[in-house]
Amino acid sequence: QGKRWAGTPGPAAIHEQAPKDTARIRTRFPPEPNGYLHIGHAKSIILNFSLAKDYGGLCHLRFDDTNPEKEDQEYVDTIKDSVKWLGFDWENKEKDYCNLYFASDYFDYMYEFAQALIKNGDAYVDEQSPEEIAQMRGNFKELGKDSPWRNRPIEESLQRFQEMREGKHPNGSMALRAKINMQSPNINLRDPIIYRIRHATHHRTGDAWPIYPMYTYAHPIEDALEGITHSICTLEFEDQRPFYDWLLDKLRELGFFKDPLPKQYEFARLKMKHIVTSKRKLLKLVQDGFVSGWDDPRMPTIVGLRRRGYTPSALRLFIDRLGVSKADSVIDYSVLEQALRDDLDPVANRAVAVLDPIKLVITNLPEDYEEACFAPINPHNPDAGKREFPLTRELWIERDDFREDPPKKYFRLFPGNTVRLKYAYVVRCTGFVKNEQGEVTEVHVEYIPDTKSGTPGSDSVKVKGNITWVSTKYAIPATVNLYDRLFTDEFPDSGDKDFLASLNPNSLQVVNAWLEPGIDVMPGNQWQFERLGYFIADKDSTPEQPIINRSVTLRDSWV
Ligand code: ATP
Ligand code: MG
Ligand code: MG
Repeated sequence: QGKRWAGTPGPAAIHEQAPKDTARIRTRFPPEPNGYLHIGHAKSIILNFSLAKDYGGLCHLRFDDTNPEKEDQEYVDTIKDSVKWLGFDWENKEKDYCNLYFASDYFDYMYEFAQALIKNGDAYVDEQSPEEIAQMRGNFKELGKDSPWRNRPIEESLQRFQEMREGKHPNGSMALRAKINMQSPNINLRDPIIYRIRHATHHRTGDAWPIYPMYTYAHPIEDALEGITHSICTLEFEDQRPFYDWLLDKLRELGFFKDPLPKQYEFARLKMKHIVTSKRKLLKLVQDGFVSGWDDPRMPTIVGLRRRGYTPSALRLFIDRLGVSKADSVIDYSVLEQALRDDLDPVANRAVAVLDPIKLVITNLPEDYEEACFAPINPHNPDAGKREFPLTRELWIERDDFREDPPKKYFRLFPGNTVRLKYAYVVRCTGFVKNEQGEVTEVHVEYIPDTKSGTPGSDSVKVKGNITWVSTKYAIPATVNLYDRLFTDEFPDSGDKDFLASLNPNSLQVVNAWLEPGIDVMPGNQWQFERLGYFIADKDSTPEQPIINRSVTLRDSWV
């Protein structure tokens, strides 16, 4: 059980409440509200929230909004939405807690702690330019050199820091640095900058602050204020851990925090083939119109995956299958797709659709013939019952289910061959009609009586092909979006590659399809279209204008 975040108690008070909670562990998911969440974030969300849940703890949703220029309320809203959609919550009315936090609520503390560090001789204001500071820090081979401002009097640094806070100095003219060790082999300990001047409007604090804390300074403080026990981050932060511990040790010495202090743990970030996840690159795809928006079903964003038909449970299954480790690996896109198939197969209702239609005429049926056919709604769940649709004289079938000159091992329709119309009769192909361009426009068949599926004589005629169909009279017309990978290159942005160069020109194919009558095309409804794959009604789908997105094909056909 936690406590509702109530106003602004002093740091000690915030710290007091956490260890007294019965929550044994506290984790956090700390997004920066500067973009939409992607599949990599899903890994972090699932990891942090599940860990807390499995060990009787709590997970905080914390917006790490310490970087004003690129942050926005729009992003705060979509991030909240995506976390909830994934099935996690930071709020429990019954138990009276709301673990939703904003780093910007801690700016006063961060400032106060920085002053205390200066007074303690652990920080100083450096008036070199950002370039000079960077240069003097050295690199992997070369140790750093002390700044001429490093040993300036404490009073002077305090004074300057105060002026920075009052907005008296321009961006980049000076910065507050932790005073650690310019000769440390770990470059992150060579007096890192902890505050910089940014005359920028913040989406929550407005113009109250002309200075902002650096992420590496802010993050440990946020964790400690909230009583986080396990601060889980990606491997790039491994080299920051000594600073994380240095800072919290200092602040404990200064009396702001008590043991137990949070500890940082690292795991390998999720990397996948055929996608980009950099916010800058995703934004470019959106802004330059390469996709229709952040929620384009080809985007690796959570909103995009959702619109594509990915379910929260499929994403959790995917992340579970990958496991958590420190070993870097790159995941094949097909692993994600297989998780979706495995998730949907037991639950998805079945239906029939014809994506590339050609007309089939059953010449030995009368014009107005109608006969009900039945099929399971879900073969894994007999209790779901049957669906019903009519057989008529004229049907739509897939163009690919007929060949004038069949290749070897082609068991579908060709002149003289017999196939089963799934859930209906066996038919024999008797001919076809071509237009002036030589394209086949109609296939003619005769049905064989007494072969209807589910009747005693149904297997009296053996066939190898089983094809799907819909009645031309009753089928529902729909726009179907067939998606493929957005990038043809496995590693679209590795090295110095231009990621736009491998955009797949065929990543979206729009077709006019026919759907089984009676299906409900309300946005969000999902089906397995038999033989074709899993599909979802798009958010813009209406009964008048159904729009259906293909989530994934039935088998991995990507080479
Ligand atoms: P940017 O894309 O600007 O580099 P970011 O990916 O770090 O930012 P944040 O909003 O800071 O995005 O990320 C929030 C959390 O999600 C962080 O704790 C980060 O470790 C985690 N995260 C981000 N990308 C991945 C990924 N690919 N795999 C696992 N976790 C990730
Ligand atoms: Mg970040
Ligand atoms: Mg990122």
